[in-house]
Amino acid sequence: MKAIQIVKPGNRPELREVDKPTPGPGQVLLKVTAAGACHSDDFVLNMPAEGFPYPLPMTLGHEGAGVVAEIGSGVTSLTEGTAVAVYGPWGCGVCHFCSRGLENYCTRAAELGIAPPGLGNEGAMAEYMIVDDARHLVPLGDLDPVAAVPLTDAGLTPYHAIKPSLPKLVGGTTAVVIGAGGLGHIGIQLLRHLTPARIIALDVSEDKLAFAREVGAHETVLSDADAVANVRKITGNDGATAVFDFVGLQPTIDTAMGVVGTMGDVVIVGIGDGVAAAKVGFFSQPYEVSVRAPYWGARDELIEVLDLARDGVLEVAVEKFSLDDGLEAYRRLAANELRGRAVVIPD
Ligand code: NAD
Ligand code: ZN
Ligand code: ZN
Repeated sequence: MKAIQIVKPGNRPELREVDKPTPGPGQVLLKVTAAGACHSDDFVLNMPAEGFPYPLPMTLGHEGAGVVAEIGSGVTSLTEGTAVAVYGPWGCGVCHFCSRGLENYCTRAAELGIAPPGLGNEGAMAEYMIVDDARHLVPLGDLDPVAAVPLTDAGLTPYHAIKPSLPKLVGGTTAVVIGAGGLGHIGIQLLRHLTPARIIALDVSEDKLAFAREVGAHETVLSDADAVANVRKITGNDGATAVFDFVGLQPTIDTAMGVVGTMGDVVIVGIGDGVAAAKVGFFSQPYEVSVRAPYWGARDELIEVLDLARDGVLEVAVEKFSLDDGLEAYRRLAANELRGRAVVIPD
């Protein structure tokens, strides 16, 4: 079967012919119907060869949807032919975090050698993929897999990032979204639907700002050296109640810390260059600001996000590619040329 793999760190991904996998005990084989390309894939592709954390070659893709093609021995909760989305942050299923659905924060995954598809295991950018446990599959029902697949990360991650700030985002407050890409454009829609907050979106081009307004931002500001002043012109002295940084570079984290108001939240979701950081101290930001950097989301939250999509409140902007054109999806992702999410659809 065909698969898009990272073969050598620092190089572009490759379309390769690999063996079709067979599900072992407890596993499920999916015929992939859609796979989303995340900016984290680009981060992984550019990691140095020395200390590279995953076995190579590795099939990319941690946003996956498919149809159950074959069931390993012992799997009783699924039947062949069921359309599903893959919950990607696989954990052990039994530690305290996993027991709460927060497999993204499994405390035993590293020790047990458990890793997500596309981030340590073979991923979804292929004709077939193995899912380690039926627990990690959510039935899609009548949701279109192409529009739904970004929700497994580009929807779930902002949802998990936004949820703890919901009690603060009451009437008259402001939420700032930095980066209106795959995650950000869904984050804006979630904020619009779940809160009465005024949403200010920041990005680097007028096209991206227009896109942010199309998906629900009330106001937009260019993400440049004047961004803090321009956001503050809108928020006044109150500042922003919550800032969601879907970029995570030093300039955007500095912007986030510069626009947040007293008792506000700064939520750093973007990985940026992997080293950028917020400086926190008594004199560094307004009183009682909270800063957090969440990772992905919980199993129950994926079900909630898919239910929101079923209710028709999330319009995922998708650019479609075949598996043969998948390398072009990654090129455009790296060049920042996509509108929303690139989704690869194997034939
Ligand atoms: P994307 O490429 O789809 O979108 C990024 C957006 O940010 C683009 O619209 C781009 O124009 C904009 N941007 C770039 N530089 C900017 C700047 N200086 N100021 C404002 N906007 C800027 O990326 P994505 O797939 O949405 O991922 C976003 C980030 O989140 C990446 O760093 C990714 O690795 C990370 N991520 C983190 C998690 C997590 O669990 N924490 C999960 C998924 C992705
Ligand atoms: Zn991702
Ligand atoms: Zn666990």
